[in-house]
Amino acid sequence: MISEIQVVEHFKSWAGLNSPDIYVTHEHIKAIQVRENLVFADVEVGYPCLSQTETIRSTIETYLKTLHPSLQVQLNIKIVIVPHKVRHGLKLMPGVKNIIAVASGKGGVGKSTTAVNIALALQREGASVGILDADIYGPSIPTMLRLEGKPSVEEGEKGWWPLTAYGIEAISIGVLIEEDTPMVWRGPMVTSALEQLLRETRWRNLDYLVVDLPPGTGDIQLTLSQKVPLSGAVIVTTPQDIALLDVKKGLKMFEKVNVPILGIIENMSLHTCSQCGHTEAIFGSGGGHHLAEDYNAPFLGQLPLDIKIREHSDSGTPIVISDPLSPITQAYINLARRMSIQLAHTGREFSHKFPQIIMQ
Ligand code: ADP
Repeated sequence: MISEIQVVEHFKSWAGLNSPDIYVTHEHIKAIQVRENLVFADVEVGYPCLSQTETIRSTIETYLKTLHPSLQVQLNIKIVIVPHKVRHGLKLMPGVKNIIAVASGKGGVGKSTTAVNIALALQREGASVGILDADIYGPSIPTMLRLEGKPSVEEGEKGWWPLTAYGIEAISIGVLIEEDTPMVWRGPMVTSALEQLLRETRWRNLDYLVVDLPPGTGDIQLTLSQKVPLSGAVIVTTPQDIALLDVKKGLKMFEKVNVPILGIIENMSLHTCSQCGHTEAIFGSGGGHHLAEDYNAPFLGQLPLDIKIREHSDSGTPIVISDPLSPITQAYINLARRMSIQLAHTGREFSHKFPQIIMQ
């Protein structure tokens, strides 16, 4: 007969699953119970991982059987996402555990497309997700997610409810203004409009809110990174050198405001000719990798330059939704999971657990 203590001790020498794609250690195994030769345990994973549950289950089962081959194992794999640290002095937003900024050094690198597909991939992996389109000069998320109508407002209540699309919540400056309103807002006005969007939207208990920042690394982006309680930031780049120079500025900006870089994504890396199938690195290769090494930031991976990504986005059904089994969707899912694993490694935020002390 094997005891619970033996099982707990056995787990302590488990090497765990530790790679950029999957992360589970003995510390995530809770509530161990043993009845005869049956072991029950909860596995609490701190990031969305639905596509990995079978690997987690079979690895743990195989490991426990090294203790005794006749052991039967029943695991309850739970996704438990907690709030992570934000800049000192900022408070978490109600209804949102983690805010992740998606940034780029310049426009046109595919930041919004990546933000949308990553948000949908996080949801597919088991998280509750929202997206905020802060790209105030060119809000493209309403088109990509086919957002229709206005956010709903209840009489006498403050704020508005976000729209929903494909299982995620979404809000964009694009749904709050008329289409023909000229985008003449500048500097502080842009920031205050975005602050209002953030403050007044009533998110419904999100694990992650993905914020699609305006492109560039100017004052607007700096102010937003200082004022929004970000848990981390992801930088999207193309492999061209010029884009990489801009990205360095982005990395520096987040460093300055103490927002952890969860990773760099290289978009439009390889092109496969739809006629002949030949694959070419038309913008050069390896740039994102080198940059990540130089700055000691994680390199989350590459996305191909593929017409299907653009076509599906333009028609309002992003590829993660319209072609769920394609290798490109798999690439987005991997990127999203790697990003959330990086976040799971950063410190936890506990300030929301302390009661407010009111002095009278
Ligand atoms: P940004 O937010 O950086 O300005 P967008 O996400 O709006 O860029 O993308 C710019 C254009 O490039 C869009 O037409 C989009 O559909 C397209 N696009 C983005 N990523 C890819 C990709 N990997 N392959 C093909 N087209 C892409």
